[in-house]
Amino acid sequence: MKINVAKSAGFCFGVRRAMNIALRTVRTSDNIEMLGDIVHNETVVKEIKKAGIKKISALRAGDNKTLLIRAHGASQRTCRRAEKLGYRIVDATCPMVKEIHKIVKTNEREGYRIIIIGDKKHDEVLGIIGQLSGKAIVIDPAQQIPRRALRRVKKGTVVVQSTQNLDKVLRIVEQVKTLVPDLKFHNTVCKPTRIKQKEIKKLPLENDVVIVIGSKSSANTKRLYQIAKSANPRTFWVQKAKDLKKEMFTNAKSAGITAGASTPDQITAEIIDKITALTKTRRRPPSSRKSNPRRSSNSR
Ligand code: SF4
Repeated sequence: MKINVAKSAGFCFGVRRAMNIALRTVRTSDNIEMLGDIVHNETVVKEIKKAGIKKISALRAGDNKTLLIRAHGASQRTCRRAEKLGYRIVDATCPMVKEIHKIVKTNEREGYRIIIIGDKKHDEVLGIIGQLSGKAIVIDPAQQIPRRALRRVKKGTVVVQSTQNLDKVLRIVEQVKTLVPDLKFHNTVCKPTRIKQKEIKKLPLENDVVIVIGSKSSANTKRLYQIAKSANPRTFWVQKAKDLKKEMFTNAKSAGITAGASTPDQITAEIIDKITALTKTRRRPPSSRKSNPRRSSNSR
């Protein structure tokens, strides 16, 4: 069986960068803390913990401590409070998230009401809200559009959580345009996400089976899974090699593989090995090979 791995599978630029900053910081500082998990992936979280970075749920006295800001970013209030408490701050916020922060701050200053399309409780969205002095309107794609609140907006600027489904976002923006007379739209779905979403539209059509790899807590993996599943019902979301079952590949000639932005390459490699092992055609003894000369082959 043929295994086709999406070029964009695995860590995005921002996560890779945040991991490198974290591991570099460990070499030069002790007492490193982080509010929440560095990314939504259990293997990476374990690795970070092993390296000596402590996950905390609230800031406490920060003398001789370093606070690592994750790729999702953090609110201005959090950073100010950490500095006041004595923390040294190491900022691993993805530059593409920083760009969203810049857009919302500038537009708010110019009198535009900020409208964010994203998951209401996601840390990136909370970090964007946390750059503002006023209130933002959040449109969660999983919920109804807050029409009443939007109708009251005269001048609005829309930004998007970097990992949102672009097709869905564009449909929402069309609706918002009918409600807000002066509307600016900044498409802030990041480039790595756009490439991933473009690939995941093709992968299910070109393969009999699709395997999406990533943690169940990863929002971007969930979106990849949803897009793939709608195009190919034989799409499976797995976290580790042990989640794979032989039946998933029954009569399949090809499997397309992708992985969320927080999935380490090592897990993807293990999954490829397991699929190869599960779908390997057993060699027949020479006598029986004569009667059935056609053999399937495994390739990556
Ligand atoms: S998904 Fe995009 S914005 Fe988020 S960390 Fe990765 S590159 Fe940065």
